[in-house]
Amino acid sequence: MERLHLVPYPEKVKLTGGYCQPGAKITTCEKELQKKEAYVIKITEDEIRIEGDKAGIFYANCTLKQLRMQFKDVMPCMEIDDAPRFAYRGFMLDSSRHFLPKDDVKKIIDIISLFKINKLHWHLIDDQGFRVEISAYPKLTEVGAKRGRSHFGLVDEYKNNSGYFTKEDIREIVTYAKEHMIDIIPEIEIPGHESAMLAAYPEIGCQNEPVSVVTTGGIFDNLICAGKEESFTFVTHILDELAELFPYEMIHIGGDEACKRKWRRCPDCQKKIKELGLLDENALQQWFVIKVQEYLKKKGKKVIVWNDSLRGEKLPTDFVVQMWMGDKELITDFVKRGGKIIQSSTESFYLDYPYAMWDVHKILDYEICPEYLENENAIIGVECPLWTERVSDLDRVFYLILPRLPAMAECGWTVKGARNAADFDDRYLTIDSYLKSDGICGAPETYWNISEELAEKDMEEHRRAMYTPENTAEFEKQEKMMEEERAIYGDERY
Ligand SMILES: [Zn+2]
Repeated sequence: MERLHLVPYPEKVKLTGGYCQPGAKITTCEKELQKKEAYVIKITEDEIRIEGDKAGIFYANCTLKQLRMQFKDVMPCMEIDDAPRFAYRGFMLDSSRHFLPKDDVKKIIDIISLFKINKLHWHLIDDQGFRVEISAYPKLTEVGAKRGRSHFGLVDEYKNNSGYFTKEDIREIVTYAKEHMIDIIPEIEIPGHESAMLAAYPEIGCQNEPVSVVTTGGIFDNLICAGKEESFTFVTHILDELAELFPYEMIHIGGDEACKRKWRRCPDCQKKIKELGLLDENALQQWFVIKVQEYLKKKGKKVIVWNDSLRGEKLPTDFVVQMWMGDKELITDFVKRGGKIIQSSTESFYLDYPYAMWDVHKILDYEICPEYLENENAIIGVECPLWTERVSDLDRVFYLILPRLPAMAECGWTVKGARNAADFDDRYLTIDSYLKSDGICGAPETYWNISEELAEKDMEEHRRAMYTPENTAEFEKQEKMMEEERAIYGDERY
């Protein structure tokens, strides 16, 4: 049988002979099936019957939409019985480095939901911009959402540098996402990546040092001061508003790349370390993060952190850890203790990386459960982050995510036995031409399983973008800072 042009591919498909007449009646029956988000489609000559829970019915309609791209009005009769492999299938959008407005976010929701992605991890706050209105602290957006000329490399340095989402925008996007069965997980970075926040409120940083909104990429040492009680109060006020805006179970509190240079010389932070009898600044970070998590737990929230937060004492297993790079031993230990993780490895799922590094076929072949973890049940799902230092418009978003995100969606949805990476290109081509007719263009087919020659060209362009003269000077400065960090904490990652 010719495979249907569906992405992600369903668990079970059976062609039953004959064709469904155009205009056949559609019957929808909302009911619980064995698995959550599961659905059944039965196409006969005169009826299309759909069964499933609310999400299942939505996914059945996504499948039907793709079937119509392939067959137009005359579909073969068939039965599809389908359910996801993982409950968490995510995409992360970084709105800090470049700010794409509300309507662009909605377009992204349209596209990712077509591939049954059900989580939008929204990176709203970082060194380069604070992108959400917080009533308690208006300067966060008055000051923190504005950035002048930037230099990330080979991207329009004036475009989409400033802007933020009002509460009304957020509510509209949340409603829209709900209609597409997508939960939004907002992220506030704690304690690092705070330049935009500290530019607005330097008093919550160490020693009230003045800070500016950052205009380049990289790692900076602008952290919330963990030694002051006011910092914790400040953070909880922001979290109160975020929790109200995003009525979901999960919230992300970041925790990556927190360079401790300022903490090491801050009397408040050092006093706190002594007072609590902590080993070092990593332990202080973990103490602060756990304090924030305990606050959020009382609001019924489950907290996600990047794997950097595993450093220190043993992180409680009611956190969810998003695994991106390094800390293998700590992740293994966390999983052995019963902790759950989200797979977002930089080795495959970082969509800001060029196709030369991770093309579609590499993603499809990627082993989601690395051998050292032993237990696939520890993984609640997969997520592709899109960092936007060099992504300043929607066209670039679609170029980078299509069709790599659909490939990841297939890893996250389709059980291994039903997956066939070899025919992915054929299946996706039909969807690709449909999306193109709608003005949505992904990377050309030659990039999906990229040749060595083209990869070299792609890598060259990536290097040129990464290392413009302005960037290189900044990176050299940062490299010195990170060397100091590595010497102190023995961390080999950055
Ligand atoms: Zn401090």
